Formats: sequence, C-alpha cells, structure tokens
Amino acid sequence: MAIPSLTQKKRRLLEILKREGITDEAVLRAIAEVPREKFVPNYLRHQAYENAALPIESGQTISQPYVVAYMTQELRVGRKMKVLEVGTGSGYQGAVLSRLCRRLFTIERHLPLLNTAEALFRELGYFNITTLFGDGMKGWPEQAPFDRIMVTAAAEKVPQRLLDQLAEDGGIMIIPIGGQEETQHIYRITRQGEDFETEILLPVKFVPLLGGIVHDSS
Ligand code: SAM
Repeated sequence: MAIPSLTQKKRRLLEILKREGITDEAVLRAIAEVPREKFVPNYLRHQAYENAALPIESGQTISQPYVVAYMTQELRVGRKMKVLEVGTGSGYQGAVLSRLCRRLFTIERHLPLLNTAEALFRELGYFNITTLFGDGMKGWPEQAPFDRIMVTAAAEKVPQRLLDQLAEDGGIMIIPIGGQEETQHIYRITRQGEDFETEILLPVKFVPLLGGIVHDSS
C-alpha cells in the first residue's frame, strides 16, 4: 500500500477535527493553511498530521491539533482583533491565530524556541505576528488591552496581570488551569468592565506556566 502524503494526512486530520466538534469554518481553514510539518522537529515530520502533541526543543511540546483547534474556536477570534498568546513554543498555535486576527503578539520564556519560531514566521510571511522574549505571566502592558488572550501553558491560578490586560468590553481569555499532578481544565474568562465570568471547558494536560526567562536550550 502506498504511503500517504502529508497532504492526504492533513485532509484526514481535518476530517477528524470536524468529527470531534470543530465546526468553525475559519478555524478549519487556518488549520488547513498552516504547514504544521514546519513547526515540528525534522525527525518527526512524518507525524506532523497525527492528532498528537509532539516534543520540541527545550523540553517543551507542540500541542495536539485538536486542542489547538478547540482553544482557537473557543477564543472566538474576529478579523479586526488584537490577540496575545503566552507560550509561543514552536510557533504553531500563534501561526493559526495570526490567520484569524489583525495582529498577534506572542511571548516565550525560552530564547531558542522564540528564535526558531520567529524565523518560521518570517519564512512563511506571517508579518502580523510580533514576538517578545520574556515572562508572559506579566503580559505585555505596552501593547494592552487585548481583545483576546490565549495562554498555552497551565497555571495554578489565573495571573492577575493578564486579567488586567484584557479588553473591558467583552475581552476573552482561554487558559489551562491546574497543577501538573491534577486534572487541568481549559477556562474561558470573559470580561465586562470589572466583571469576569468564568466557564470551565475541556480537561487537558499542559506543561506548566513558569516565571522567569531561559537564555539557552536547558
Ligand atoms: N503554543 C505552543 C505551540 O503551538 O507550540 C505550545 C507550546 S508549549 C505547550 C507551552 C509553552 O509555554 C512552552 O514553550 C513554554 O516554554 C512556554 N511558557 C511557559 N511559561 C511561560 C511564561 N511565563 N512566559 C512565556 N512562555 C511560557
């Protein structure tokens, strides 16, 4: 039997995502457009369209495609929006978000990861993405407020500084909450003025949101 091409594998993955409840056409188009094989290490390229998280540099992971699609769908991103991502990692989730919004700001605490992701954004022509090497728990006050915030690492509790940087008129944040030893859940927080409504969505497993920055690949 012939080995399926990456294009065939991508088509199959999109079918799986639809079956599992990803119905937002714009999200499915963004997933179809972004080449996930560029964001995984070379030796894992053939697995790029499996519905699985994969290891990347610095002991981190690129999230499972279903989780990327789900979090993106639940963030309800609009074309004119300014979006912050905390945890650039491979850059894949940021690339998907950038196809849906006006400007995407993304922060990573591991410098080698950020350098690799930045080079990919340039190569792919994703010029509406701006990156920052730093501690994303502090957000990006100079660029706030954000219409949407997505955190792609699990926090014990929602960082107050990120809540403060959410737009007051219906800003939405998606963030995995929970420790490494317990079941984590995706939370969706919607801001109206000083009211924050919290919905608990999907159970997940994410690497931890940590403070500080790391210059090398340790
Ligand atoms: N969005 C990523 C992707 O598509 O590959 C997922 C990456 S991984 C699940 C989470 C990332 O969050 C890791 O790269 C980790 O270094 C980063 N991270 C953890 N705590 C952070 C913090 N305080 N500030 C910025 N990045 C952080």
